[in-house]
Amino acid sequence: MKKTVAFSKNAVNVFFHILTRCNLKCSHCYINKKQHGKNNLPLKTIEDWLKIFASMGKEANIIFLGGEPTLHPNLPMAVTKAKSLGYTSITVDTNGYLFYNILSKVSPDIIDYFSFSLDGATRKTNDTIRGKGSFDTCIQGIKAAVSGGFSTSLIYTVSTQNIHELDSIPPLLKDLKVDRFFIQVIGIRGKSAESKADKLQVSRRDWLKIIPDAARRIARLGITVTYPKVFLDPKEPFECAGLVADNYFIFPNGRVYRCPLCEDYPLHSMEIKDNVLVNTPRINENDLFTLTIPEGCVMNKLFQPDNLIYHRNGRPKYRVACCMLKEEIRGLS
Ligand code: SF4
Ligand code: SF4
Repeated sequence: MKKTVAFSKNAVNVFFHILTRCNLKCSHCYINKKQHGKNNLPLKTIEDWLKIFASMGKEANIIFLGGEPTLHPNLPMAVTKAKSLGYTSITVDTNGYLFYNILSKVSPDIIDYFSFSLDGATRKTNDTIRGKGSFDTCIQGIKAAVSGGFSTSLIYTVSTQNIHELDSIPPLLKDLKVDRFFIQVIGIRGKSAESKADKLQVSRRDWLKIIPDAARRIARLGITVTYPKVFLDPKEPFECAGLVADNYFIFPNGRVYRCPLCEDYPLHSMEIKDNVLVNTPRINENDLFTLTIPEGCVMNKLFQPDNLIYHRNGRPKYRVACCMLKEEIRGLS
């Protein structure tokens, strides 16, 4: 059954970029080193920052991100610390290279999911986007994680370059024994924002025609599928996660954003200074969250307006949902 995953202030969701370095150079990489630096956070700092979000008096979930987080030699210790601090769920996102033999240094009791990124059902399409050899390495990484007893997810960032291969994904997922499948919409930030020549975001028509059906087909294999709503139905209420959820996107230079769409700009509403989470001076993203506009999401209108279409009278033809609003279809086996 399909359900919209409601925003909640009762849980803290931490998206922790422990470094920005990566071995790959994906053409759509959203990491912006000019904004977020190039440093690896020392283990002690990671542990101190983990404490901040674990002690907010709420259930806390964490995703370790990079760059490529397995390039951080202290990732196993960081994950173990997160577990001991009581994080409810711990996920490591990876491009599949699994550096420092990470699978042998952590256990399925500690890590809830390894989440692998693959952007094509074929070597050709994936490697065109993510780099030569990345398809085979990712597939091997998933197989190694599954045979090590880890639960796995696969993240597929949909763009005009790979939407045609979603149809071919189900047999691959089944074969790999992946537990969850995440469809992401490509964000126009980082490298995607620089390469304006290519139109990477798929049209509303194609999104609505292809994505919900593809998600249902994959869920029939028993795999739980999550995909972003992107376009609101006419009667659906608009909600901004920046106001009604408790998400923190943390970067190694201490910036903490509540909305990922503005990460190309110094609009973060919080930062970590001397291991204390503090508010930044106005104007920041918080001021933008409170604006009500007929297009729905304010950051979308500011940073990726090409996915909006208007009537002649200037009214938008539809509203764009918060990028964090997801539909989930539980695996229907
Ligand atoms: S694997 Fe992730 S961090 Fe690395 S280049 Fe690709 S998108 Fe960027
Ligand atoms: S994506 Fe839009 S709606 Fe969601 S948190 Fe950011 S500004 Fe708010």
